[in-house]
Amino acid sequence: MSNFFHTKIEFLKGVGPQRAELLQKELNIYTYGDLIQHYPFRYLDRTQFYKISELDESMPYVQVRGRMRGKEVIGEGRKQRLAATLVDEDGNEMDLVWFKGVKWMQKTLKNHTDYIVFGKPTSFNGKFSMAHPELEELLEKKQTTAFLQPVYHTTEKLKAFRVESKVISRMMEMLLKVAIPNIQETLSPELIDHYKLMSKRDALINIHFPQSVDKYNAAKFRLKFEELFYIQLRLLRQKTVRRADLAGQVFKQVPTVTEFYKNHMTFDLTNAQKRVIKEIHKDLTTGKQMNRLLQGDVGSGKTIVAFITMLIAADNGAQSVLMAPTEILADQHYTGLKEFADRLGINIGKLTGSSKAKDRRVLHEQLRSGEMKMIVGTHALLEDVVQFQNLGLCIVDEQHRFGVEQRSKLWRKNPRVIPHVLVMTATPIPRTLAMTLYGDLDVSVIDEMPAGRKEIVTVHRFDSHRLRVFQFVRDQIKLGRQVYIVYPLIEESEGMDYKDLTDGYESIRRAFPEYQVSMVHGKLKAQDKDYEMQRFVRNETQIMVATTVIEVGVNVPNASVMIIESAERFGLSQLHQLRGRVGRGAEQSYCILMTGYKLSRDSKTRLETMVRTNNGFEIADIDLKLRGPGDLMGTQQSGVLDLLIADLAKDAPILQESRAAAQRVLNDDPQLEQPQNQNILRHIKSLSVNTVNWSRIS
Ligand code: ADP
Ligand code: MG
Repeated sequence: MSNFFHTKIEFLKGVGPQRAELLQKELNIYTYGDLIQHYPFRYLDRTQFYKISELDESMPYVQVRGRMRGKEVIGEGRKQRLAATLVDEDGNEMDLVWFKGVKWMQKTLKNHTDYIVFGKPTSFNGKFSMAHPELEELLEKKQTTAFLQPVYHTTEKLKAFRVESKVISRMMEMLLKVAIPNIQETLSPELIDHYKLMSKRDALINIHFPQSVDKYNAAKFRLKFEELFYIQLRLLRQKTVRRADLAGQVFKQVPTVTEFYKNHMTFDLTNAQKRVIKEIHKDLTTGKQMNRLLQGDVGSGKTIVAFITMLIAADNGAQSVLMAPTEILADQHYTGLKEFADRLGINIGKLTGSSKAKDRRVLHEQLRSGEMKMIVGTHALLEDVVQFQNLGLCIVDEQHRFGVEQRSKLWRKNPRVIPHVLVMTATPIPRTLAMTLYGDLDVSVIDEMPAGRKEIVTVHRFDSHRLRVFQFVRDQIKLGRQVYIVYPLIEESEGMDYKDLTDGYESIRRAFPEYQVSMVHGKLKAQDKDYEMQRFVRNETQIMVATTVIEVGVNVPNASVMIIESAERFGLSQLHQLRGRVGRGAEQSYCILMTGYKLSRDSKTRLETMVRTNNGFEIADIDLKLRGPGDLMGTQQSGVLDLLIADLAKDAPILQESRAAAQRVLNDDPQLEQPQNQNILRHIKSLSVNTVNWSRIS
């Protein structure tokens, strides 16, 4: 946008310094450009007129035409109100009431005059009424206005200063009047033509003040398309820039990998694992830095893929790290990888916050000398004292738990060549979101479970059936299995939640006196948590009562029952993650979702979805629809999702089109040098410069 849109908001007629300050503070509106992009969040439908006989209490705001009759003030003092009757052309009646501004209404309301009234209909004793309707006199000459009326987001504070939606709407009108000649097209004529898009100018006019429903739809599409287009364009450009710029070590040798395949594999890789390893291997031989996201549902076998990737690095004289967000997870990874490494006599280490100083010194030394090829750990790996002879590969598990700074600290541990990067996640991210969040990463997906894995049987049980559930647990333990019982932990109600947890623990101990019960939660010291976890792993305890600290990665194949208490309080993706703790061994596994009888509609959908499917991607899609992308795991701080108008949960098709469009543009004109792309280039330059540079992050 040109300089006009950088004009400070206080210069707009009717705004002034005081309101300007409020708009800045409350809505982040600093400039004309900010205001014009403060799109309505909904519209009142004033395109249709209803007859009183057609009204229904479930209707939102509606408008009715009729003649005003018999206004009168009823009651005294504070209880005073003005009542009037509206009669429509069929002769049906509706009451209108005002509790505020009674005097003024009494003065201005004209009896025996035709009006359009607009409000929310409520019914009492079969008669409809509206409180505080908007009124418009219906004049013979004037055409009746039929339109969508914008409703703008505002805040309590703004309202206190009378900056209500209506006032913002008036500001918008003022702004558009002066802005129209200054609105420049931001997409190329070629794109506008090909995707049949409305012009930017018409789109801005119609998003605020739709001239018709069709035009409103076209405006909405155009603006969503543009918003998503520029995100995709940025990501795709970074991808090509990075490809061209960043060199990576070439890993061509695979002698130990071959040996491992031949002599040490105890199972056959799934086709999905094979495909993913091929994709990774290909990246590692190109001489460019790999930047790949590996998605795979819990239990899909990511560990072996990580190990083989690390082995490729080792075969080429490079060291690798695997970093996990928690100590428990790092332990598990270490145990999993060590099992493979030991078969080959490869030196693998573990470094976490609780590593002893003495051990650390040895690790540090071995990493510096290159004697140690593989290391697994937590944030402790990021410390400056941790130096490598030649770090060639970084694998990051569950990356959303790490901040940008932390991750880049890891990449910088090889000052000569940036290490290859593999990000692993068990949180299946819906395609639409992955495209936006990780649009500059290559994505590999393990979409197949190892053969012979039995589907986890999931059921929903009400709290009143607890005794039956306990009997089932007892039977399973008798068969030699172990059981998880998970309680919710929500930060705001922590105190109460811990009480639930400890109460639960006590009642489980009473109910199962013949068995050992562990308890693990976030408030325990790392050592104690570890001790309890290890007891459970060794089957010294049969029941593990826990909060969601066991959510990620923990692997106890003998545990075959997962009970989730107050399951309605968990998000869908989280339920799925928790369920993934079982079903890791040969036995049939079960997930039991416990709730009370009172359930919201969304909770019901979540529970039904869990019972119906084990497919993580399907679940992620539904989760996205239920919660919107802002709440989805790992996306909260991304910033990418601060969208003005597009909605990733709903606009997947537009996202796809806009991505294809961005790709088309870049294929034809990678540098955006051609005349037809000048609008695009100009717009990119004017876009805020403080957007995160994603290419260096992941
Ligand atoms: P996740 O993707 O959740 O990290 P893991 O790598 O921990 O999954 O694998 C889960 C279990 O499945 C492990 O016990 C692992 O040894 C086993 N596994 C992995 N791949 C296969 C396979 N192709 N066939 C049989 N078992 C496998
Ligand atoms: Mg794992």
